Amino acid sequence: MTMHCAQVREHGDLDHLLLEQVPIEQPASGEVRVRLRASALNHLDLWVRKGVAGHRFPLPLIPGCDGAGVVEAVGEGAEQKWLGRDVVLIPGLSCGLCVRCRDGDDMLCPEYGILGETRNGTCAETIVVPERQLLDRPEGISWEQAAALPLSALTAWSMLRKARLTAGDTLLVIAAGSGVGTMAIQLGRLLGARIIATGSSAAKRQLAEKLGASHSVDPADPKWWKEVIRLSDGNGADVIFENVGQSTFEGSLRALARGGRLVTCGATSGSQVTVELNRLFFKNQQIIGSTMGRREDLTRLLKLQQQGKIQPVIDSTFPLQQIHSAHQRMESRESCGKIVITPWKE
Ligand code: ZN
Repeated sequence: MTMHCAQVREHGDLDHLLLEQVPIEQPASGEVRVRLRASALNHLDLWVRKGVAGHRFPLPLIPGCDGAGVVEAVGEGAEQKWLGRDVVLIPGLSCGLCVRCRDGDDMLCPEYGILGETRNGTCAETIVVPERQLLDRPEGISWEQAAALPLSALTAWSMLRKARLTAGDTLLVIAAGSGVGTMAIQLGRLLGARIIATGSSAAKRQLAEKLGASHSVDPADPKWWKEVIRLSDGNGADVIFENVGQSTFEGSLRALARGGRLVTCGATSGSQVTVELNRLFFKNQQIIGSTMGRREDLTRLLKLQQQGKIQPVIDSTFPLQQIHSAHQRMESRESCGKIVITPWKE
């Protein structure tokens, strides 16, 4: 028995993303096999394909961190109850035993990994995962919506938590059109923040305002940060949600209020930035790094999704055999929200 998948054997351009047929894996002890009904792309998929200087991915590797599907095989020692169940995958892998895991900070586990980064991911017809990666798919939530939520919602939630966003704060969301950006706006609104967003196109700015931003600004304007200060009554933003890096970081720091917290989870435009330390300490500001989030928070986020309080914005869907078009769309930076992959169609 074989399955279709996308696979990276060597890093490179789009033609290094290979569509292959590989044997279907049997679940080992404590594992299950899930037949995927939808997967979602994240920026990490592009890094896995292109490679990251100084970082080694375990090639060959099937990319894809997010997925939802039906459990079709259960390995020895894993609970039989899962067989036939509709599930959402927890993208972060951890040991479950160390102090960090027991404290609930599993993303700090020394053995932490991510599906599609440290082991085969979801851009395939099936995936084998440890049983502890499963959560039930919330009732009434489509496969596409279920697959689009986990990584971006978990990342956004964890960032706002670390930055201690509270009601009445002004939150600046950089790159509102990204998967994490669209989620940050929705979560920020739930927490009672006043939201300003940046969006590099009129469509992205419109989307930001539709999701709950009171204002949006165009980062192409070299003095865009002044507009943020003006819109926040001269104070600047209390919390800044960054995931772009180099091209926006200095402007973001200028838009940060006294006592403000800038939290970052990504550097899609480059990771080398300049920080004016005098301004940082005079203004008692903080820069906080964040990656992924607590697995237990995903249960809460799925509940919020089921209650209709948050909903991933889906930009487009592509069947697995059109994964190249999906990567192209993500790289074009034209997408607003998540790009979803649906099963291979003969
Ligand atoms: Zn651990």
